[in-house]
Amino acid sequence: MQLVRPEKTSRPPANIVIVDDEISSVVVLEAAVKDLGKVTYTTTPADAIELIQDIQPEVVLMDIEMGEYNGVDLCKQIKNSPATAKTAVIFVTSHSNPDLEYFSLDSGGIDFLTKPINLKTCKMRVANQLALYYYAKDLENAKEELYNEKEQFKATLNSIGDGVVATDAQGIVTFLNPIAEHMTGWNAVDAVGKPIELVMDLKDATTHEKSINPAHLALEENRIVAMALNCQLYSKSGNVYRVEDSAAPIVDEQNRLRGAIVVFHDVSESIAMAVKMNHLANNDQLTGLPNRILLHDRLEQAIKVSKQNRLMTGLMLIDIDNFKYLNDSLGHHIGDILIKQVAMRLEFAMDANCTLARVGGDEFVLIVPNVREIRQLNTIATDMQEVMQKPFVIEKQEYSLSVSIGISINPTDAETEGHMMRNADVAMFRAKKQGKQCYCFFSQNLEQDLHERIELEKVLREAIDKNTVEVVFQPQIDMATQQINSAEALARLKDKNGNNIPPPKFIGLAEELGLIDLLGQQILRKSCTAAKEWYDKGKEIRVCVNVSALQFCSPGYFDQVFKILEETNLRTSMLELEVTETLLMQDIQVVEEILRDLSLTGIFIAIDDFGTGYSSLSYLKRLPVDVLKIDQSFVRDMLDDKQSLDIVKTISDLGHSLGLKLVGEGIETAEHEQILKSFGCQIGQGYHYHKPLAKKDFETIIL
Ligand code: C2E
Ligand code: MG
Ligand code: MG
Repeated sequence: MQLVRPEKTSRPPANIVIVDDEISSVVVLEAAVKDLGKVTYTTTPADAIELIQDIQPEVVLMDIEMGEYNGVDLCKQIKNSPATAKTAVIFVTSHSNPDLEYFSLDSGGIDFLTKPINLKTCKMRVANQLALYYYAKDLENAKEELYNEKEQFKATLNSIGDGVVATDAQGIVTFLNPIAEHMTGWNAVDAVGKPIELVMDLKDATTHEKSINPAHLALEENRIVAMALNCQLYSKSGNVYRVEDSAAPIVDEQNRLRGAIVVFHDVSESIAMAVKMNHLANNDQLTGLPNRILLHDRLEQAIKVSKQNRLMTGLMLIDIDNFKYLNDSLGHHIGDILIKQVAMRLEFAMDANCTLARVGGDEFVLIVPNVREIRQLNTIATDMQEVMQKPFVIEKQEYSLSVSIGISINPTDAETEGHMMRNADVAMFRAKKQGKQCYCFFSQNLEQDLHERIELEKVLREAIDKNTVEVVFQPQIDMATQQINSAEALARLKDKNGNNIPPPKFIGLAEELGLIDLLGQQILRKSCTAAKEWYDKGKEIRVCVNVSALQFCSPGYFDQVFKILEETNLRTSMLELEVTETLLMQDIQVVEEILRDLSLTGIFIAIDDFGTGYSSLSYLKRLPVDVLKIDQSFVRDMLDDKQSLDIVKTISDLGHSLGLKLVGEGIETAEHEQILKSFGCQIGQGYHYHKPLAKKDFETIIL
């Protein structure tokens, strides 16, 4: 702290009192000191004390011998009075007795002047005493100010509600206020001299790892630092506080770093309060589920995340059927309990990544992020309706409930959240119109697709259960002899109206549903059984069976094939398996191994739809393949499209150079046949010869 000296000019003039019973002396003394301040004198020693008490002068010039009065005694009186104790008393006498000088100074006098008075010396001595007097007074004032200031600081630091810890430049604690003592569990006496990180044990609230004390950062970086968010203070006595605040470096006037000060306060309660307020603001009171406000946030979030993943977001509006009626007739008390129970069941049925919110009396919204396929929503909607099926029991009374659901999907039918809500509402309206316990999609096309799919799944499951998938046979013709030496087996499934379902559709669904193994085995068994029958009747027709890549890669495929061959007693050379190029893009080592095993038994291997995939030629060379089937799309286009023609030619050349048999697919005209033949293709398949034929029809042409 800086000592502020009052400017000379700002000081009131000094008071100087002269006490002398001889007026001539007074005149001389006054002349000597008149420039130094306001001079008052008395020649009556009896009045001196009163006068001095009254004026409280800085300096008194005091004669020693004044008749019956003695200046030394007067000096003692002056010094004994607190008001004048600091007054500088200078004795003036005509005696030059050293003892007298001693006694007078011993009585409290500060200087000694002898008469006759030398004006200059006298003035100088009085001026010096004045300066000393002022210096002493200033010093005292400064001390008092400093003391007051220190006390005030202490009182402030002790009375503020924050914890305050000060350190020196090395981070060693120098001060702790009572709040800091309380929160750290250290008393100031023990804490002073310890490293701050020992006294303030700070940890990250989430990871519980030690946090660096902000005082160190403030010291290192010489700037104010905020304490890490999410900070916990572990007190010595075992309490844990969530704390928040900052540290600042302490620098002196020369800008030298003297230490750091950390100010912190307990935010545990405000955090708890914030969490509670947040919950209250964002959650429905009755069910504790997110309310409309939070729903808005979550939906926004779900749309964003799903978009990033290039997936969809589903929004389901779930409404309790006839709730108004129930509520009115049973009373709001039961109504509330029902709503709570419905909320619980819905929550129980939903996936963890979904959000369920309550948006109205009997309305809930379920947000489903990252939807890959629409039918996922279909499954969820069914689940939500199923969990309502068990009766609700309240006060031993059973109640039946159902819900209707409207579904909207981003981005398929709505871009924004508001739009999604509106669409879900429209869909809900439609669901209600269809009767209770229904769910509807906003997009009717989607709904149509979905219903078709559900229907298809039913038909497929039933056909597999009953083993009724039909296998038809399309003859393959040796173009040189026009003989039928082989036939492709093709699966056929009819819908409930008797229309053919395209094989790629139901094969794909069987793959999705995990039924392809079963279906594939049924087809293979039927194909092999047919071939064996024909063989037994003297017709060696090799049967070419399509294999889905998924089925091929499933464990035990080789055993399945072999088992069926054994069961049906068909020679391996009577079976050809058609695999697609996509198979060659799977784990090629596994594929190669299975292909090799199959091929070693004598089964023929064909690559179907060749030219449409991206199989590498090096694989083709390495794998035990016997036949290449030129994809029908090239055959169909080759008459009009030069590029397709070139591809057919290239595939044919490739087949020849690898020593493979070539089958031309989709031959519909004699011209097709002609061209393929000219390229050296040996076998033809297509409507030009025969469409796929039911087994008995096929038999009429071969037998
Ligand atoms: P794919 O193996 O290439 O079968 C040839 C397809 O072309 C058959 O269609 C056949 O009916 C059709 N086709 C034959 N000749 C002609 C023609 O001259 N012109 C035209 N436009 N089409 C012709 P399909 O039976 O509808 O089968 C389609 C695809 O479904 C098959 O293509 C095959 O990939 C798959 N598939 C059929 N049955 C099975 C099966 O049992 N298992 C597996 N995994 N897939 C099968
Ligand atoms: Mg095929
Ligand atoms: Mg094909």
